[in-house]
Amino acid sequence: MVPYWLAFLALLVFLALFPPTAPWSDRFLTPLVALGGGVYLLWRRQGPWGLGLLGLGLGDLGWSLAELSPLPRGLYLEFPYLLGYAALAWGLLRVRGKPPRLSLGLLPLGLLGVLTLLEPELGLDRLYTTLDALLLLLLLPRLEPLFTERFLPGRALWGVGFLLFLVADMAYAHLEIQGGYPTGHPVHLLWTLGYLLLALGVGEDQQDPRFLGEGLALGSLFLMPALLLQDPTPQEVRLLALYGGLAGALGLLYALHLEWQRTAGKGRRWSQFLEALARLSPSVTQTLSPEAVLLGALEASRHLLPQVVGLEVRGRRGLVGERTAHALPIPLNGDSAYLYLKAPPQEEIPSGFLFLLGERIKQVLKQVEWGTLALTDPLTGLLNRRGLETQLPKLLALSQRYQAPVSVVMLDIDRFKRVNDTYGHPVGDEVLKLLGRILQASVRREDLAVRYGGEEFLLLLYGADRQAAKEVVERVRYRFRSQRIDPIPYPLTLSAGIAGGEVPTGEAQVEDWILRADYALLRAKEAGRDRVTLA
Ligand code: GH3
Ligand code: MG
Ligand code: MG
Repeated sequence: MVPYWLAFLALLVFLALFPPTAPWSDRFLTPLVALGGGVYLLWRRQGPWGLGLLGLGLGDLGWSLAELSPLPRGLYLEFPYLLGYAALAWGLLRVRGKPPRLSLGLLPLGLLGVLTLLEPELGLDRLYTTLDALLLLLLLPRLEPLFTERFLPGRALWGVGFLLFLVADMAYAHLEIQGGYPTGHPVHLLWTLGYLLLALGVGEDQQDPRFLGEGLALGSLFLMPALLLQDPTPQEVRLLALYGGLAGALGLLYALHLEWQRTAGKGRRWSQFLEALARLSPSVTQTLSPEAVLLGALEASRHLLPQVVGLEVRGRRGLVGERTAHALPIPLNGDSAYLYLKAPPQEEIPSGFLFLLGERIKQVLKQVEWGTLALTDPLTGLLNRRGLETQLPKLLALSQRYQAPVSVVMLDIDRFKRVNDTYGHPVGDEVLKLLGRILQASVRREDLAVRYGGEEFLLLLYGADRQAAKEVVERVRYRFRSQRIDPIPYPLTLSAGIAGGEVPTGEAQVEDWILRADYALLRAKEAGRDRVTLA
């Protein structure tokens, strides 16, 4: 890898030793740079490009030698050029491109090449301006990703290299038309720089952005019109150089601007993603459900990958959103987890993103698991008393914010001791589990269902006055009675007491309502069981 600044410095030293107008530099600097670039690229295993530069270098050198010696001129001098053009086209074809839009700004350069076909005095040189136009057609789609995807400094560099080379060819043709190319004309420096940037750019195509590469590419473009201000230069050649320099520089600056915007946008999306990940916690999800955690993680990942539509932790935790054919595996030791995309990702997935997501999901699911263990009753899955203590403040806050009433229900299974005594404790446990399931299914998300004592259950119903609470309990009673637990032959019943039904002033009042509901329950038992009593 050659540092850019070193190559640039070497060029400046060379230019100081051999001024641009010296015929020597015209005849030998240009081919030597091309040959050196070709060897460098072959060494970097860029075969087609290396052969391309070698071909052009050999062609230039052949002509220089032919001019200085009595060697016969002839078609054989053209073979290296043709080989070079073919190899460069091959190199271009191997680079992935996009349909050109902004890069079409360079198209007039190709038109100029085609126009020279109308100048018969150019002779064979018309072949090269036509080949240049064809190369340009291959080049434009390969420059387009600089605007639409990301700024690849290597590509910008060899793109500018091509541009210099093409402008030099056109300028050469016009100088020829205007009465012959004067040896030592500064146009040859455009070729020299063009070859140099081709070699450096192709050699560095895979590297990350570096300021010097971009600066070199830009600087070379501004050099183009400056060089051609020298006499003797026909007017149209000056315009051509001005056009090539400006079009290239504006394009490059715009591509850099887009890249800067992309980088800023990426930073913004990352910070939103990280913020959402940090906010992902069981306390915020309210319900201590793994689904809520996965949903939060899905939302967070959308900040970085808008096309995400589903998230799945295979096994016990399930799926949120939808499953698609484009699955990204999330590293999550033990379980296998996937992020599902609507379409294959357009750009590469930022490294660390999936890892970070997986780590956070793992952490929060663990918290949910611990929270669940500490706050719920293992037999029924309902909240235990500690769970009630932690969830009650949220319910109160919600009720006070929306001025929604809360009803308190105390439930107790009738003659439960008899079930235990007759059929054994395990059957009793089944009965408790059944009632737990019924309660869970009968209350809403904001409600709290608590296993308050052995076979006593407490419901805190949000947004329900006593009448609504009574309807809920009647539904529970009906469901409980209509399900059978083997081997109990008779329908099971329960009694309930209801209190509250207003907007609570605070926790103390809720505790008072619990006592009252308990008292109402007692009265239901006294009145013969299998009924609901209001406090
Ligand atoms: P009542 O209609 O008056 O409520 O009569 P009851 O037999 O249900 O009387 P009580 O409510 O006093 O009975 C409570 C019984 O619940 C006593 C206890 O054995 C049983 N119990 C408490 N916890 C559990 C448990 O976790 N599993 C089982 N199988 N039984 C339990
Ligand atoms: Mg009982
Ligand atoms: Mg009891």
